Amino acid sequence: MAASEVSAKTHDAICRGVDQIQDEMISFLQELVRVPTVNPPGEVYREGAELIGRQLKEFGYETSYITAEGLKEHTPAHPRVNVFGQMKGITDRPSLHFNGHFDVVPVGDGWTRDPFAATIEDGRMYGRGVSDQKAGIAASIFAIEAIRRAGLKLRGTVEQSGSVDEESGGFAGVAYLAQQGWLGKDKNDYVIITEPTDTNRIYLGHRGVYWFKVTTHGRIAHGSMPYLGVSAIDHLADFLHGVTHELKPRLATRKTEIPVEPPKSRYASINVNAVFGGQPEKGTQTPCVADRSGAIFDRRFLTEEPFEQVRGEIAEMLEQYKAEDPEFQYTLEDLMVVHPVQTDKNCDLVQTLAESIQQMTKTEAVYAASPGTYDQKHVVRIANVAQCVAYGPGLLAQAHLPDEYCVIEDIVTSAKVMALTAVQLLGLE
Ligand SMILES: [Zn+2]
Repeated sequence: MAASEVSAKTHDAICRGVDQIQDEMISFLQELVRVPTVNPPGEVYREGAELIGRQLKEFGYETSYITAEGLKEHTPAHPRVNVFGQMKGITDRPSLHFNGHFDVVPVGDGWTRDPFAATIEDGRMYGRGVSDQKAGIAASIFAIEAIRRAGLKLRGTVEQSGSVDEESGGFAGVAYLAQQGWLGKDKNDYVIITEPTDTNRIYLGHRGVYWFKVTTHGRIAHGSMPYLGVSAIDHLADFLHGVTHELKPRLATRKTEIPVEPPKSRYASINVNAVFGGQPEKGTQTPCVADRSGAIFDRRFLTEEPFEQVRGEIAEMLEQYKAEDPEFQYTLEDLMVVHPVQTDKNCDLVQTLAESIQQMTKTEAVYAASPGTYDQKHVVRIANVAQCVAYGPGLLAQAHLPDEYCVIEDIVTSAKVMALTAVQLLGLE
């Protein structure tokens, strides 16, 4: 069903439905914010999952709790509990899955309000995780309920999941759900991840990440006769110099065609996460030439850069140092690779969402991509669902800040966009 086929009457019924359910949605969100699901270490996940699960059940979903059995982060003290709800329509397909992570980052300093009180002031709700991204969870659950209360019945199937550990990679969350078949192309056509993107922005994907470790190996000797040894630190310094003065300027010329926000993140980049080597900083110092040193790097790469090239560029630099100095011994180790993902702008999901944004906000949808990654990588790479985007209330700029807030009106608007999108994608009886 195309947007134009949704009658004005249906459109109004959806808007009224969301307006009428607004107070319930906001008090549910307050309850959810008051459960301090802080990650790390992954506090009170079970309570968080059960709060979402109870609400889904009350609204007619069949619910299941999925614990990440067998993963090392799933411990008795901090169990990794996800929740899944399914509301079958008249037909199994199409099927629209809303996913939101309910873990939040630690509070940090600088708060002027109680981070878990969910207080409302001047039309904003304050609290850790309000924008990132408990408001998104509330919006998608109540968007679908608003349709039902408006007396409409969806033809296709709706699913909602609340997942854990997004802030630490999502392995016990969305990745696990996908591996266990709760999310997958055999059952899902569309996935909307309700991360904060503002009311009119659609995140099509994210850049790639390559974390790697370079270790240089020297030869130990007495520090008073350094010429007898080979300093691993000197060799690391040579490589770091190359990274700063050759590689960085080269990366700064590579720009993606994808509308990454903020725009400065449209360029390839590299950052040094850590350096190590020689004597421990706080230990007793002895005169030694360091035989081992190294650094850990965070390279962000573009859709236009094949990973083999990204890794090859680093390996080539190292080989060049070795060619110039046979005593330059090193190892290169991959720590983490996240490939970039990007959903086709012209697919049904994106176009339908864009039309709903246009109708509900009276502004054009903005297409963007995230400078960092989020759970879309698992949906695309493990669940193999190609039509996946992020859309939800709140501002990415608010995420992880002190005094994090979300504008209540934006939650209502996003819920209307989600409801209209669901009606358009799944059809009505
Ligand atoms: Zn998030």
